[in-house]
Amino acid sequence: MGPNPRAGLHYPASTGELLAWFPTDADCLDYLEWLRWPEGFVCPGCSQLGGWRLEDARFKCSACGERTSVTAGTIFDRTRTPLTVWFMACWLFATQKDGVSASSVQRAMEIGSYQTAWAMLHRLRSVLVRPGRERLSGRVEVDETFIGGEEPGLRGGRAKGKKSLVGVALELKEPKGYGRCRMAPLADASATLLRAFLADHVEPGATVITDGWQGYHGIGGLGYCHDRRSQRAARARGEDPGELLPGVHRVASLAKRWLLGTHQGSVDPAHLPSYLNEFVFRFNRRRSRSRGLVFYRLLDLAVVHEPIRYRDLIAEPTPKKNPPAAPGSRGHPRSLERPPANRPWRTA
Ligand SMILES: [Zn+2]
Repeated sequence: MGPNPRAGLHYPASTGELLAWFPTDADCLDYLEWLRWPEGFVCPGCSQLGGWRLEDARFKCSACGERTSVTAGTIFDRTRTPLTVWFMACWLFATQKDGVSASSVQRAMEIGSYQTAWAMLHRLRSVLVRPGRERLSGRVEVDETFIGGEEPGLRGGRAKGKKSLVGVALELKEPKGYGRCRMAPLADASATLLRAFLADHVEPGATVITDGWQGYHGIGGLGYCHDRRSQRAARARGEDPGELLPGVHRVASLAKRWLLGTHQGSVDPAHLPSYLNEFVFRFNRRRSRSRGLVFYRLLDLAVVHEPIRYRDLIAEPTPKKNPPAAPGSRGHPRSLERPPANRPWRTA
């Protein structure tokens, strides 16, 4: 990723700075251009470096003549929402510790429709899983929990939706404390699906700590060191069997509280995967020294993510099996080395 990005130079340090840097869509486009093509314009058609900016702010490839815009092929493709509004939504999403709901974004930015605000937030959620991210390692607690559904009485006694089974994995630090977590829906707690969950999220060689559930039997054969904790043995020792895996239970209850708080529990089971991705993204950045840095990372992921159509958000809400194009695959490796210009982020 190159040198460490700095507040006030590569990303805004405050809301005031955000507003000062990005008063118009042209300023937003310039920032996205810097993030997407740090070494200069790279043609998405023929992958050649070099071209020029046209009067309508699009780029023309000097090799094949293709015309394109910096937002084409990203999650901002053909958006009718001003980029200044997008940037403010990104800022709220990144800088609010618990995130934002679609209705609060709609109110704060006076966006006409709830659906527009809802779709913006879902597009942001869909970029959070970085392609090729590292799996958890070291000592990792793994368990399943039920999440979602509407709490009875919250909305006039209506209980809508059903709870979904979710796999949870959490790194334990030595001597205490927690590292990164991962969460993903599970169709059931069978050995097949639990093994797939482990393979997706936990590095072989890790010590996997589970309860005595038979679905975890034999995971030593997958290259994990299995630390199996029996509820029966805990009961026999007079311990609370519910406290065998305190880390994953803590993370699961934080996730449930977050869904009830920020999103009032009104999470469609079909969209649960993307809310879990958001929760994991926030949990894993809970000690980030700067919220503005999270804004930077979010936009950096957004400019390399393929477009997401509204009907895909509605009709096919579960994450695609094919990971999006990896950062760098559409251009040159990211770098903060840029020719000086009269923008703060251009002067690094
Ligand atoms: Zn070209």
